[in-house]
Amino acid sequence: MSDNQVNQKLVACCGLYCGACNAYKSGKCKGCRENHKAKWCKVRSCCLERNIATCASCSAFDRPVKCSKFNNIITKIIGFIFNSDRAACIAQIKRLGLGEHARLMSEWKRQSVKKRK
Ligand code: SF4
Ligand code: SF4
Repeated sequence: MSDNQVNQKLVACCGLYCGACNAYKSGKCKGCRENHKAKWCKVRSCCLERNIATCASCSAFDRPVKCSKFNNIITKIIGFIFNSDRAACIAQIKRLGLGEHARLMSEWKRQSVKKRK
């Protein structure tokens, strides 16, 4: 498997880029879309129900993020620990499109846009 994949299908529902994740690269995870075990994730379930690739295609997504599935105390703690800003990923998808988001994340070798300090 390539170490630096550019594939817009590897953009997760929440905007993370699975193509830059070690679990994906080592074959331990098939990525958000194919990870049928991830039933715990409300964002993934919501996007699947709405038949959209990511929250960027949802009219309920805005900034600051009011959607409680996307933005809640757990997601805030995870974002803090991993220095990740999924809302910025979704904003980047809205701005540049899925393909360019995937290309940039692959180039940066990052799953998420960094949180601003
Ligand atoms: S948090 Fe949810 S939407 Fe984001 S990558 Fe994980 S399973 Fe997918
Ligand atoms: S922004 Fe909220 S309501 Fe819209 S698809 Fe994402 S999780 Fe669902």
